[in-house]
Order: sequence, then structure tokens, then C-alpha cells
Amino acid sequence: MRAMRLHAIGQPLAADDISVPQARNGQLLVRISACAVCRTDLHVVAGELAEPKLPLVPGHEIVGRVEQVGERVENFRVGDRVGIPWLGWTCGECEFCKSGRENLCERARFTGYTIDGGYAEFTVADARFAFQMPDTFDDVSAAPLLCVGLIGYRSLRKAGDPKRLGIYGFGAAAHIVAQIARFEGREIFAFTRPGDDEAQSFARRLGASWAGGSDEEAPEQLDAAIIFAPIGALVPAALQNLKRGGTIVCGGIHMSDIPSFPYRDLWQERTIASVANLTRRDGEEFLELVARVPIKTETQMFPLERANEALEALRCGRLRGAAVLVP
Ligand SMILES: [Zn+2]
Ligand SMILES: [Zn+2]
Repeated sequence: MRAMRLHAIGQPLAADDISVPQARNGQLLVRISACAVCRTDLHVVAGELAEPKLPLVPGHEIVGRVEQVGERVENFRVGDRVGIPWLGWTCGECEFCKSGRENLCERARFTGYTIDGGYAEFTVADARFAFQMPDTFDDVSAAPLLCVGLIGYRSLRKAGDPKRLGIYGFGAAAHIVAQIARFEGREIFAFTRPGDDEAQSFARRLGASWAGGSDEEAPEQLDAAIIFAPIGALVPAALQNLKRGGTIVCGGIHMSDIPSFPYRDLWQERTIASVANLTRRDGEEFLELVARVPIKTETQMFPLERANEALEALRCGRLRGAAVLVP
């Protein structure tokens, strides 16, 4: 099968011809029809996340059809439509797994990072961590739901119950979370790179009542803000716009250092939180919700072979919505 693989940190992915993996006990073999490209893939390729499997097939927003089921698989049959997310395996035994926080499992394995992912024609996945995908979406539109959508959802839940929500970095994750937030009756304030008129009008089209540069002051104080851009300096910037008691949620897996700021900007019970990974429960809740909204995902398709180009477009901020690789 064709697979785009990372052989060394910082190198472009190589187009390899490798054998189709086999589904072992509890696993599914999936024929991939779409795999979205996530910012985390950039961090993996650049070595900003420690010790990826090498060589590695990146990609953790996978939609496809079950081609083969291993022994002891009960929740899927051959031909089923399946979604494979970032969380690929957890131990089930640690304090985090046992308290509904498997996203924090210290032994967790991750699709497209510590196990092979979806920049390929086939992949295998642990059936317990795969999702049935709602019929409301075609394969390409569904793919970005599986990470940027899910992480956005977890970030939104972590933000509490904000009436006025700021979103910093208006890309793939933001375009999904904004639709959910609007559906829930929240008011959106979108912060983009200063001067990025195109991103600001994209945000307004998705229902933001205000859009401006990340260096601007919000017209009203915010109850919460989610930061998707991997820029630590946005944390003190967002604090300037945050009401007392408000929460800032950092939605990324990697961020540049946060510059120091006066304690009084945090005081009055403002909170800064991060979001890590997802739980299967998040996935089930989220997929049920997106079918009801229903979410529209904006996507830009790339043939599998052009994965490097898709990553570069994401890195430069040239995408509106999500890049999706199609084998
Ligand atoms: Zn665990
Ligand atoms: Zn991701």
C-alpha cells in the first residue's frame, strides 16, 4: 500500500510502498477514505513532541471502512464506516483511566504519533477506541471532526458556560467550535493574526459577532477564551480581555513560552487551563451533537502524495478550514 512516512525528525515525509497491516486481536483493519491534517502533525514532524515512533505514518483524523476484523471485536463488522481519533489505546488500570480521565493516562498510545496513523491507504486500530460515524457527513467532511472538532469541543466544555466567548486563532478547530458555540447561543469574538482580513471575514461568516486582530481589545469583556494558536504571548493578551472569574483554555498540544505578566491580571479568580487529548466519552457526546447542529466543515482536499504540501499550507496559515488527504 501507499503510505506517507516520517523517517527522521524535520525531514519531509517520504512516499513509501509498504505491506498492508493485519488486524490482530481486538483490532480493525480499515481502508482509509479520508484523513485530515492537524496542527499536531506539524509538531510531530518538527520534533516538538518527544520520541515519535519512527518510521511513522502520521495522521489521526481518519475516516474509512472496516476491511477486516480481528478476533474478539464485537462493536464493528466488515463494511462499517469508522472514525479513528488521536487516542489509540489506554491502560484501563491507572488512576486516570479509572476516574473517567483516560485522556491523561500515562501509558496512552496515540494514533499518528506513537502508533501508525492515516496518511496511508490502510491502517489498523483498536476497535474499542474507534467511533461509529454519523451518516450526516460524507467522509471528507467528517474527518476534521475527529481531532480539531473533538479538541475544540473539550476546550469549549472546559471553558464553562460562557455567554461571551473569545477564540484566538481562527483555523480548523475554531471553525467547528464556533458553530457549536453559536448553536448553544454563545456570542463569539474572534481574534486572528493582526491584519488578516480574510480570516476575520471567515470568522464573521461563521457567526462571530466581532472579529479583529489578537492585539486588539475586545469590545466587551469575555467570560472565557479558547486559544488555538500555538503562541504563548496570547495568554497574557487574552487575560486583558477576560472578565473576573473567567477562564482561558489553551487548546493546543504545543505552545511557545508564555511571557510573564503581573499577578493582578490573573487575580479575581481568573483561571488558565490546558486541554489534553480526548476521552471516548467526549467522542460519543461530540459526534451526537454535531449531527444535531449540524456542523458544516470547510475542507480543502489534497491527494495523499501531496501530504507535505498540505502540511506546509497549514504551517503558513494558508488554509481556511481543514486540509484533508484522500488516498
Ligand atoms: Zn491508564
Ligand atoms: Zn489533532
